[in-house]
Amino acid sequence: MKRISILGSTGSIGTQTLEVVRQNGDIQVTALAAGSNIEKLEEQIREFRPALACVWQEEKAAELRVRTADLPVRIVSGMEGLIEAAAEPSADLTVTAVVGMIGIRPTIAAMEAGKDIALANKETLVTAGHIIMPLAQKLGVRILPVDSEHSAIFQCLHGENQNPASRILLTASGGPFRGRTREQMRGIQVEDALKHPNWTMGAKITIDSSTMVNKGLEVMEARWLFDVDFDQIQVVVQPQSVIHSMVEFADGAVMAQLGTPDMKLPIQYALYYPERRYLAGERLDFWSLNQITFEKPDLENFPGLALAYAAGRTGGTMPTVFNAANEYAVREFLNRRISYLEITEMIQAAMERHAPVPDPSVEEILETEAFVYDFLESR
Ligand code: NDP
Ligand code: MG
Repeated sequence: MKRISILGSTGSIGTQTLEVVRQNGDIQVTALAAGSNIEKLEEQIREFRPALACVWQEEKAAELRVRTADLPVRIVSGMEGLIEAAAEPSADLTVTAVVGMIGIRPTIAAMEAGKDIALANKETLVTAGHIIMPLAQKLGVRILPVDSEHSAIFQCLHGENQNPASRILLTASGGPFRGRTREQMRGIQVEDALKHPNWTMGAKITIDSSTMVNKGLEVMEARWLFDVDFDQIQVVVQPQSVIHSMVEFADGAVMAQLGTPDMKLPIQYALYYPERRYLAGERLDFWSLNQITFEKPDLENFPGLALAYAAGRTGGTMPTVFNAANEYAVREFLNRRISYLEITEMIQAAMERHAPVPDPSVEEILETEAFVYDFLESR
């Protein structure tokens, strides 16, 4: 029986991971971690019976300890607890589904404890890919992508061991504001930006998808996962979200992975790789689909994508600046303290201000995050 720990179990990816676990019935959950939603976490503990659970705040953890006093679960808190949950000794694999670069240290801890990683938490690879990927190789652990595009690429590369990708064609829906000018996006409210045309996801990634910052993060994620240059990654807007991404090989052949938009497919593929299991759900119906259309990304009105390529090409601490500024700005936008267009303006301002450090350590990455937060707060 496979054993897994899930970081971010109460979120969009976390709950869908547990649905996959529930439907298959042959995975044991050894640890769960959440931010503050102890009601949902308690339900999950009662159903899946992990040995360990973590809540970010100690007060909430204390409350959960009382609520689960009848169960043999140990409740921990804070970064120390999150690291403990990530590295829970009996797990084979850790699903990283927390939001943001808070995932860096637990991901590294899980790898050092010999766990394979089912990676949803893209911010960790964006900021620390130069640490994570060589470490995975050194330790002999797998990094299995959960992000749908990267899972698609991973599936297209399956069995192609000696054949490197000459190009990665990363598909994008274009988000809810595709086709608008910046001027037309000026008055966008939180509610408007939280509506994604094809996917239901957590708040932060939904905002990122609307600004195309998500695609920018995914370009950097692909750079690390598949060891390609930025020139080899092309973003292709495909508004129906049917082609999840494609790979072009030296002979010009293009392999694509298609399907209805359902995150349970890439989650299940990562959990059982290389096995494909039955997954209930809608199948693609090409007659009702009728057509799949393609567009170039609009870099002028969606500067987040161009800034991501620039940050990725500069490298060092610059991707951290891009990511940290975005995390900060999205939180401010969701709290209604800044306007929608200020999200990418803040990213640009932070990048212009920063003198990048090459090959940063985890400490330097976290210092850079703090620098960005200070800079944006004092603006
Ligand atoms: P959600 O916001 O839905 O869920 C986030 C999870 O992280 C929740 O369980 C939350 O707990 C938990 N969390 C937040 N802060 C902490 C903390 N300090 N310590 C421990 N746990 C914490 O996010 P998503 O599931 O949408 O996204 C998760 C990651 O997966 C992101 O990196 C995203 O980019 C990536 N991803 C998501 C996709 C999707 O379809 N949703 C698709 C591809 C990638 P609580 O509920 O208590 O707040
Ligand atoms: Mg994605």
